[in-house]
Amino acid sequence: MAGLETPLKDIVGKSAKVLADSLDLDTVGDLLRHYPRRYVQRGELTDLRDLQVGEYATVFAEVTKVSARPIRPKLRKADVTVSDGTRSMTLTFFNQPWQEKQLRVGRKAFFAGKVEDFRGKRQLTNPEVQLVDDELGVFDAEFAGAILPVYPATAKANTFLIQRCVRMALDMLDLDDDPLPTELATRLELIGLRAALEGIHRPKTFAERDKARARLAWDEAFVLQVVMARRRAASAGLPATARRPVAGGLLDDFDARLPFELTDGQRRIGLTIADEISADHPMHRLLQGEVGSGKTVVAVRAMLAVADAGGQSALLAPTEVLAQQHFRSITVMLGDLALRGQLGGADHATTVTLLTGSMGQAARRSALLDAASGAAGIVVGTHALLEEKVQFADLGLVVVDEQHKFGVEQRDALRAKARDDRRPHVLVMTATPIPRTVAMTVYGDLEVSTLEELPKGRAEIVTYVAPVAEKPSWFDRVWQRVRDEVAGGHQAYVVCPRIGGDEPDDPDDPDAPRDDHDSGGSAPVVRPPIGVLELLPRLTDDYLRGLRVQMLHGRMPSEAKDATMRGFADGEIDVLVATTVVEVGVDVANATTMVIMDAERFGVSQLHQLRGRVGRGEAASLCLLVTELAADSPARARLDAVAGTTDGFRLSELDLEQRREGTILGQQQHGRSDLRLLSLVRDRELIERARDEATAIVDADPELATHPALAAAVADLLASDGAEFLEKA
Ligand code: ADP
Ligand code: MG
Repeated sequence: MAGLETPLKDIVGKSAKVLADSLDLDTVGDLLRHYPRRYVQRGELTDLRDLQVGEYATVFAEVTKVSARPIRPKLRKADVTVSDGTRSMTLTFFNQPWQEKQLRVGRKAFFAGKVEDFRGKRQLTNPEVQLVDDELGVFDAEFAGAILPVYPATAKANTFLIQRCVRMALDMLDLDDDPLPTELATRLELIGLRAALEGIHRPKTFAERDKARARLAWDEAFVLQVVMARRRAASAGLPATARRPVAGGLLDDFDARLPFELTDGQRRIGLTIADEISADHPMHRLLQGEVGSGKTVVAVRAMLAVADAGGQSALLAPTEVLAQQHFRSITVMLGDLALRGQLGGADHATTVTLLTGSMGQAARRSALLDAASGAAGIVVGTHALLEEKVQFADLGLVVVDEQHKFGVEQRDALRAKARDDRRPHVLVMTATPIPRTVAMTVYGDLEVSTLEELPKGRAEIVTYVAPVAEKPSWFDRVWQRVRDEVAGGHQAYVVCPRIGGDEPDDPDDPDAPRDDHDSGGSAPVVRPPIGVLELLPRLTDDYLRGLRVQMLHGRMPSEAKDATMRGFADGEIDVLVATTVVEVGVDVANATTMVIMDAERFGVSQLHQLRGRVGRGEAASLCLLVTELAADSPARARLDAVAGTTDGFRLSELDLEQRREGTILGQQQHGRSDLRLLSLVRDRELIERARDEATAIVDADPELATHPALAAAVADLLASDGAEFLEKA
């Protein structure tokens, strides 16, 4: 008999090594959580005549011809013709030499894949293959007439091997406890775990499979939400220093000088924060909002409240450019309130200090001193803030900007710098709006505040796709528009997907666009994306001759970056040709045009974020998405969607739908996803419900003493390498 933790080698013998090596499956539980990707029902195969372009089809057919050849170095193509007895079609395999070997003429097999149209003929490219006359015998008693599970497989651990091992594991499985409390299972009408594992791997009917899925998807949401609920409870129990409001302090003075009215959202969230930092348990809050909704002001007001109460704040930014920008804009916003001990400083003024990795020794030493002595009320910096040498006299608040660029450990490194055994209050900000399901999952340990509206008086940002392949004249028109804007006294950004130049493309390049969408099926790569270094001379020599054009990218020394950014902010530069270093935080209200080159290289949210760099003042703004893609390509549809709406929440949902969901968590927190059945797109209600139920259970029994099986499932999740994003909070 076996439990979920039983090593596979005890159950499946030699196959265990294959499963471990190629799929990283070590225990019975690992294997049984390796769910079928799809199911095929015998006798219900797709007639070749009925294949629809674009659908995922499974074909049972006989191989009639195989021809293979290398088409360029490292790219080998095999065309396999298959027939259903009447008609035939071609399957194309790239770099799958084992297919040529196993797909001999006369063999019958299942082929599953997306139907494509190639010169008027239907074909499948790299379909999944299942031989049925194989000696392994798919249609043995176990599966005869039944629904056949198709597993995510590799060349070595093929779906047959997995089927066999799963069968052995299920036959040996002895599960006596179920992590889902019985009362809850009954109320939610969910089947037991054992039945669910049976039903997902060897369903007799599709209805059975669906019930199994519902239960297992619930578990994914529920166990995760129990982790989050426990984390919220634990954090709420830690000690923090209460930072109570001080009348007539920096915050009041700041508010009195603000050149604009706070939006209702800014005011409301400000009150929530004031309330939470006045408590002697740490605030742990996520602030999200539309690009340009004024998150920074909210953060600055929180930091001033802490300064009023005698504490310090640290603002952690993901890049030098952003840290410098925050430092500058906070200093400007505070004016004489930031000139402590200086001529013209207000008498209760504080000091704002910048600390980044590339600062000179002297500047660095003085910044460290400001932080350690308590002279600095606000310390703005990059990862350099996390180093052990950096100490604070009394760190009261940590603000993390663009949280998705930091790991949990980094957030924690800062939190550990508070005095004694206390924890600072934490305010995390995200650059773009994120769908609620993502917030509940990735940031489930935080309370969430959302700035929904933009400040009044913002001009609209109009976005166009500039399809330069179909309409080459658009290329000139793009630059003409830039010249017009500059002639009107405004400034422009031109963003390229890469730096370019002779240096090889570095996969860790911080400037690289995030490949945050599933690029499967997108345009063939015809040339490398445009780089800043290539575009710049074309603009200065030709299209934008006579304008003040400068570049900004991550390989420039930080003083140069800073000087360029300052020049742009001061209006001494008309056009900034940059990489995505300008993606976040950069705030120049006079910039009214954003040109994004090879726009299809960027994800939806990233385009929205980049576009948010304009439209920050009152002048109407323009965003041009330059692309060579054809109008009917899927990637082009993404660009049209971005052009069609400025609603960041809608775009973030769209982004989510288009990405493989597994990458969401990974990207947000540098971990791999443990979500297999749960969909962050479709299962919103389920996730919300799981959160409520989990909170109730944890409130009643924080240690889960009365739910040992659930406690074990929680421990399991935390121990799995798919849960890196959950670690150490
Ligand atoms: P984001 O939410 O994208 O970080 P920022 O905090 O950078 O937005 O704010 C964008 C711009 O809007 C800044 O120039 C800021 O000074 C300005 N701003 C913030 N709040 C208001 C407001 N209530 N009214 C007018 N302008 C505002
Ligand atoms: Mg910002």
